[in-house]
Amino acid sequence: MSVKEFTTDYDSTKMLTNHGTFGSYLKRFHISDKEECNCGEGIDDSNHRLYDCILYEEHRQELIESIESNGNVWPIEHNILLIDNNLKYFHNVILFLMINLYFF
Ligand SMILES: [Zn+2]
Repeated sequence: MSVKEFTTDYDSTKMLTNHGTFGSYLKRFHISDKEECNCGEGIDDSNHRLYDCILYEEHRQELIESIESNGNVWPIEHNILLIDNNLKYFHNVILFLMINLYFF
């Protein structure tokens, strides 16, 4: 059995643990009453933005192309996303994924 090393940092940890400007997070802490995503297709949380939301499609596609060019298959599991070679691609789009489109 092999154990893959992975790296986390502030942004990737916030993104992957749902501790950001996600509707689900804002509702849990009574900052907002709304947890549904503006796309109308689900709860606004990190998995929805990373894997499903049409509003983030452009940035997700950029990530998918990079991840697949690195020899991985999409959808990618979080622990594989945090391996160094993939993490650099994740960082290229993470700030866009963290933007809550509810405010715009
Ligand atoms: Zn959505």
